Amino acid sequence: MDTVYLGLGSNLAQPRKQLRNALVALADMPQSQLLRCSGFYRSAPLGPSGQPDYINAVAELRTGLCPLPLLDQLQAIEAAHGRERSLRWGARTLDLDILLFGEQYIDSLRLQVPHPRMFERNFVLVPLAELSPNLRLPTGETLAQLLQHCPHNRLQKI
Ligand code: ATP
Ligand code: MG
Ligand code: MG
Repeated sequence: MDTVYLGLGSNLAQPRKQLRNALVALADMPQSQLLRCSGFYRSAPLGPSGQPDYINAVAELRTGLCPLPLLDQLQAIEAAHGRERSLRWGARTLDLDILLFGEQYIDSLRLQVPHPRMFERNFVLVPLAELSPNLRLPTGETLAQLLQHCPHNRLQKI
């Protein structure tokens, strides 16, 4: 079993409800146990302008799934929540990203872990620190170090 951290995000169709429903679906995944979820945060949108604010959270999972089958499960949950991929970083009903998968580095076409953009996203690092303040990344850096170098975009715990 591996410990996995997932980033959850939504800015369409009742985002808080999207996240709550996503947690129910995550708890139902095969060979997996949903351990904890951070509080919910409101964050300023990245990417195309004119989007609503996002609601973000980080969830901690134990799983016996390998990384790609886990990604398949997450993408199926996104699809079941009406996720459409049109504009890159455009508004979405649900985004489920694998942030960390144990201590693994993965660099394949479909999957990169640690998530390559998590280091510049306070809406990922802050809820992750809420769950595991003493976490050390496979790179050897601590979350505290990463938070120091992360842009302070608008972020509010709700
Ligand atoms: P970002 O990755 O910058 O947060 P995004 O979440 O909006 O952007 P998506 O449209 O959800 O991007 O995913 C695009 C592709 O990213 C997916 O089809 C998936 O194959 C790939 N991907 C690569 N690494 C990861 C990861 N760690 N977690 C989830 N998807 C990943
Ligand atoms: Mg994402
Ligand atoms: Mg994604």
